[in-house]
Amino acid sequence: MKESLTQSLKRAAQVRANGTATLCGTRRRNWAESVERVARAAAGLRQLGVSEGDRVGILALNSDRYFESYYAVPWAGAIMLPLNTRLTAADLAYMLNDSEALVLCLDEAFIDLLPGLREYCPTLKHVVYLGDGPMPVDGMVGWDDLVARSEPMADAGRSGDDIAGIFYTGGSTGRPKGVMLSHCNLVSNAVNAIYMIGYDASSIFLHAAPMCHLTDGMSTLAITMAAGTHTFIPKFDAQQVLEQIAEHKVTNVTLVPTMIAMMLEVPGIETMPLASLRQFMFGSAPMPHATLKRAVDIWPEMLFLHGWGMTELSPIGTMLPMAMRKQAIAGDRLRSCGQAMPNLEVLVVDSEDREVPRGTTGEIVVRGPTVMQGYWKKPAETAVAMRNGWFHTGDAAVMDEDGYVYIVDRLKDMIISGGENIYSTEVENAISLMPGVAEVAVIGIPDDKWGERVHAIVVPREGAKLTPEAVQAWAREKVAGYKVPRSVVVRPERLPLSGAGKVLKNELRAPYWADRERKI
Ligand code: ADP
Repeated sequence: MKESLTQSLKRAAQVRANGTATLCGTRRRNWAESVERVARAAAGLRQLGVSEGDRVGILALNSDRYFESYYAVPWAGAIMLPLNTRLTAADLAYMLNDSEALVLCLDEAFIDLLPGLREYCPTLKHVVYLGDGPMPVDGMVGWDDLVARSEPMADAGRSGDDIAGIFYTGGSTGRPKGVMLSHCNLVSNAVNAIYMIGYDASSIFLHAAPMCHLTDGMSTLAITMAAGTHTFIPKFDAQQVLEQIAEHKVTNVTLVPTMIAMMLEVPGIETMPLASLRQFMFGSAPMPHATLKRAVDIWPEMLFLHGWGMTELSPIGTMLPMAMRKQAIAGDRLRSCGQAMPNLEVLVVDSEDREVPRGTTGEIVVRGPTVMQGYWKKPAETAVAMRNGWFHTGDAAVMDEDGYVYIVDRLKDMIISGGENIYSTEVENAISLMPGVAEVAVIGIPDDKWGERVHAIVVPREGAKLTPEAVQAWAREKVAGYKVPRSVVVRPERLPLSGAGKVLKNELRAPYWADRERKI
């Protein structure tokens, strides 16, 4: 048998039967119980009519039942469809229809969306309630009832290139695409993760970022592989993260940079007890230099593990090696997102797929066992991304002489003004360091003379007084003249974020491009 998601679950029950698998509020389950529940829930899904290869949606906040469904669906031989928790009913209906999902597992946080989803998703036959307490509406079956009423089934045994999950990309760049990841893809990534992060049976992982997104999901798989322990908070809350770390002696957590920035705002953060934490792992979006600097200033002894990846890579492409996770040793390399994962080939290439000299900006392409099987029902988009045997990431980056990768920008976020390429993250990093700036996004907006011009949207810290002129003057000191924003908006509302906590630049750009032929 080839790689299968469920192998590591069975192993965890073998090597740590009585060890804590999940700790969710007051509920604690050991590995033996967890596997038994997964095998029963899988049988329950089969009784609902789920057969091999069917799609099962999961729309829920983080919990132990989410964890169980993550394994029960593949155990039943079906394909999981973790759905982004911040999307509108229309987007969710699109994904459920596009994937022709047969069953949806959802919890109380999403009950209000159910009537609409039922109406617009004709393939949806059953809804399983993942939440707590009595069933809020009729016509659903409870997860715990499925577990209680079913005899455990044997693992369906799907493996290798069989699809284990379809993960719709967060849509921070446009219409969501269903990324098909196989058992081999996800297991290969989990093996990489366990090795690079250093998970073992004593690891206690806090699911604080949404479990629907692979930034967190890769640890759902890797911690199980290590037979460690999963703990959960329903959704990210800076204060709760800190409390959980202290209460459960959490050793690892993965956050996106916006979440780290929010934690740094918690009053008294400097003295919070984080001794159990082995490292701060972050990635998924550009880390503003200001946020990293503040984090390092507060926790000089902490290890910072920067990773870069995307859903199509299951998701990790590069990570900082262990020796480079401390500022005092790594210096500027702490800003790098590290080197290729152990079993991946990562190159930076030009528009004809020729490797560019080290230190030159190009597009990152990747080859290896974690590269997706393709986009669900989108052969044309798949072919564009998978040219010449390499997956084209759409990210611009520089690689140094030792293979360290520095992300420059998403190619889609790059601004072309008067023929010059301007990378939005460079300008954002410069402005992020200005005192009084809480958040900043830099986008290209239409300009009749230059094609596009640099525009900055700045959110001040509470009480700070910032003017567009002052922001421009600051930027002029830090970046080349043509990169200085030609216009700046200072506004109190925070920047719009995707379900995964990334700034939605397409939303920021949309009003400026509304009456143009080219849409952002
Ligand atoms: P979406 O495109 O919907 O955000 P993903 O979650 O798959 O979907 O996002 C992958 C993208 O996130 C990458 O292509 C890259 O642009 C960005 N990203 C991921 N990790 C990093 C990082 N460490 N630094 C900068 N950008 C990152």
